[in-house]
Amino acid sequence: MRLYLVLLGPPGAGKGTQAHRLCEAFGLFRVATGDLLRRIARETHPLAARVRPVLEAGRLVDDATVLEVVSHYLDQAAGTHEGVVLDGYPRNLVQAEQLEDYLARRGETERLWCVLLDLPEAVAVRRLTGRRICPRCERVYNVDRIPPDGRCEACGTPLIQRTDDTEAVIQKRFQVYWEQTAPLVQYYETRDRLVRLDADRSEDKIFECLAGYVRQWLTRGG
Ligand SMILES: [Zn+2]
Repeated sequence: MRLYLVLLGPPGAGKGTQAHRLCEAFGLFRVATGDLLRRIARETHPLAARVRPVLEAGRLVDDATVLEVVSHYLDQAAGTHEGVVLDGYPRNLVQAEQLEDYLARRGETERLWCVLLDLPEAVAVRRLTGRRICPRCERVYNVDRIPPDGRCEACGTPLIQRTDDTEAVIQKRFQVYWEQTAPLVQYYETRDRLVRLDADRSEDKIFECLAGYVRQWLTRGG
């Protein structure tokens, strides 16, 4: 693999959107832990028997199992993709160290880059509470793009607020972010693997910057 791109940033920074766009533009594989866990739970892989009951009970999958699932898909992607975008992984220092060990074993430590989508909390909260979705086609509308009539442009359904975009849930997500994920910024910074990007800009502008870096990183390592 030429590139392992870790996207970091507070809730509302647009990690998911940018991860999707990067994967589409550069043919990268997206590693989103939640998606991969749900995917493996449906497969006939030995790991499925361990993951399925945990997901069904609505509990959190432990770091060691998450690592096994992630490395299973990373191994697969190594044969088919030039790089991966890690969206929501690693989520804490333990996972970051596990990922580092995995890369060290493959001699690919230098192929990892971390981009911080930097956004003040107040701006992120405004973005998240202002977001609306279409309950029918699941299209997401950001605060500055909601149609004046409050209806979905694609299907005309009245837009709603997602239950996890309410103020209380958002506060909780930020608390988890500050406690567990924000320390990763320093972790990657001391290893000279971190790039900071101002995410208080339009989605297109952020993508343009990110794409510039990704292009460089993909063409670098041989
Ligand atoms: Zn719709």
